[in-house]
Amino acid sequence: MRGDCILSANDLSIGYKNGKNIHCIHQKMEIHLFRGELTSLLGPNGAGKSTLLRTLSASQPPLSGDIRLENKKISEYTEHERSMKIGIVLTDRTQVGGLSVYELVALGRQPHTGFFGQLHNQDKEIVQKSIEDVGLSHKMNSYMAELSDGERQKAMIAKALVQECPLILLDEPTAFLDAASRIEIMGLLHRFADEQGKCILLSTHDIEQALILSDKIWLLSPSTGLQCGVTEDIILSDRMDNLFNKEEICFDRDHGIYYPTIHWKKEIHLSAANDTLLHWGINALNRNGFRCILSDRNGENYEHRLDISSNNEMTYTFDGKREEIHSFEELVNLLKQN
Ligand code: ADP
Repeated sequence: MRGDCILSANDLSIGYKNGKNIHCIHQKMEIHLFRGELTSLLGPNGAGKSTLLRTLSASQPPLSGDIRLENKKISEYTEHERSMKIGIVLTDRTQVGGLSVYELVALGRQPHTGFFGQLHNQDKEIVQKSIEDVGLSHKMNSYMAELSDGERQKAMIAKALVQECPLILLDEPTAFLDAASRIEIMGLLHRFADEQGKCILLSTHDIEQALILSDKIWLLSPSTGLQCGVTEDIILSDRMDNLFNKEEICFDRDHGIYYPTIHWKKEIHLSAANDTLLHWGINALNRNGFRCILSDRNGENYEHRLDISSNNEMTYTFDGKREEIHSFEELVNLLKQN
């Protein structure tokens, strides 16, 4: 299922034209999106993610460059032909509260049935199957207004699925969702890319989930433009570091998260019985202004030393004085005193 290039662009410039005023946001972009792949577009607010998605969906024209959809210039498709090729899921909480889930998803068949078109049996089966695929069968007859944010997002995805387009573009599909729903939505999209061979591009601020489930990552930043690659190549080549271009933010590539730069005031020698204790020990110590020294020596030269055997068995040594402590709460209190 994987492999075919569904959408490509070269020497693409995106931005806005107002009479003679041109506001170019990015230029010289090279773009390829493939069948069977989930791609996440990451970048700070204002980087141009929505502008890029709108340009790739032909909702706004590029400033220059060609976009090709299944090997034909996107500008040569009629609007109707495009709606058979690109499914778009926007975040704005659209005014669809008065429709049932079934009615909303059925609207996605319009490119196939026409505006007043009757749903034939085959269309009805496709609508039902998509509602099942996103796990909303039990809400088929509920009004959209009665759904949670996560369920509403699933219904919008089902609507895009019934269009039977090779390409689906989503603008922040996990905004407003709790952690469980974000994981569920990303899991669904990954599954549709993998099992149904969809080519899916989404923008998101949920970096943690994007790095877990995306086949490819696109980083868009005002300073470095667009950088694309397989997720692990992007992480391990340190390209996440410059995404936000702020000294106060660092990327932790061991855990795939951003964290604030620590302003250390003191040093502490740290040893821990396992990686989990080490991770959370560093977390607590950094937050309290300590830089952790992890050498394999026993740290006798350091004024502060901490040895974590378990979460309720630790030894803290300060200035030669040893204390047995039994929780991170006790540890933090001691650190604040010393
Ligand atoms: P993102 O989605 O990454 O937050 P946007 O694509 O919304 O970024 O915006 C990128 C830049 O384009 C911003 O500087 C924004 O002010 C500008 N912009 C967005 N919409 C318009 C518009 N309709 N006309 C002119 N400039 C716009």
